[in-house]
Amino acid sequence: MHPRSVLVTGASRGIGLEMVRQLAAIQDGPVHIFAACRNPDVAEDLQILVKDYPQVHPVYLDVENDESIWSAADQIQAILKPTDEGLNLLINNAGICDKEGSGFSVPGAERGVFLHHLNVNSVGPVLVTQAFLPLLQKAAAISNSGKMGAHKAAIINISSILGSIAENALGSKLIPNIAYRMSKSALNQLTKTLAVDMKDDGILVASFCPGWVQTDMGGPQADLKVNESVSALLNSIEKLSDEHTGDYFHHNGETISY
Ligand code: NDP
Repeated sequence: MHPRSVLVTGASRGIGLEMVRQLAAIQDGPVHIFAACRNPDVAEDLQILVKDYPQVHPVYLDVENDESIWSAADQIQAILKPTDEGLNLLINNAGICDKEGSGFSVPGAERGVFLHHLNVNSVGPVLVTQAFLPLLQKAAAISNSGKMGAHKAAIINISSILGSIAENALGSKLIPNIAYRMSKSALNQLTKTLAVDMKDDGILVASFCPGWVQTDMGGPQADLKVNESVSALLNSIEKLSDEHTGDYFHHNGETISY
């Protein structure tokens, strides 16, 4: 069973855009797909998708800008109002990872670079979730499904294996960006805490690593094409149920240790 409504942040390019594309192409798939991004009017690939799929709604949302988050929530609530079904699935995907500079190591660290990674990758998802929680709670409350899942109400945080503390054997040798690692570990803490807090509301929460993916962030030498990563991610997300809430997964559904 597919969610009837989905919100994806960072939908202008990369993994977020491909999620919107694949969700839109599902036969009898979501009725509303909210593609949130910083510059919807100039996101050309997204605008092309909108022409083919009327269920895709571009929405202005900058995860660093509280006003934009609340305004997006108002717009989405208005679109969902006629059926009053709430929002089934929130995918916190927007993220940044500097490729060089003063977020890379403790010698040379600059406060602003660390705070920027934390702001976009960890605090942004907190505030986006805050704004959309009433719609997720509504979806969970009116669902007649006894089981948790993306068809009912779920928050998926797109993290990274680099946020795993348990899997960090190579330190800065694997990828020298401590600021990014810290921000994704913080995002994982959000997943775990929210999963406990939201269990009684019937809202599932999970973290996913998309793999190393050929996007602007991952670079052309990455292991996975964006369509491969996203089809595996969406397939894994669809299979989530009560026993998975609070967990952390690879794109293919294998568990990652926090
Ligand atoms: P890209 O750099 O290709 O795309 C990043 C997206 O995030 C863009 O849509 C960008 O929007 C958006 N974004 C950045 N800052 C903000 C902001 N302040 N507000 C709203 N949107 C913002 O990255 P990917 O698609 O590769 O990454 C998507 C997610 O996957 C990220 O969370 C990333 O950390 C994670 N990930 C990616 C991996 C990879 O190998 N690619 C590996 C592990 C995790 P804009 O166009 O406006 O800049």
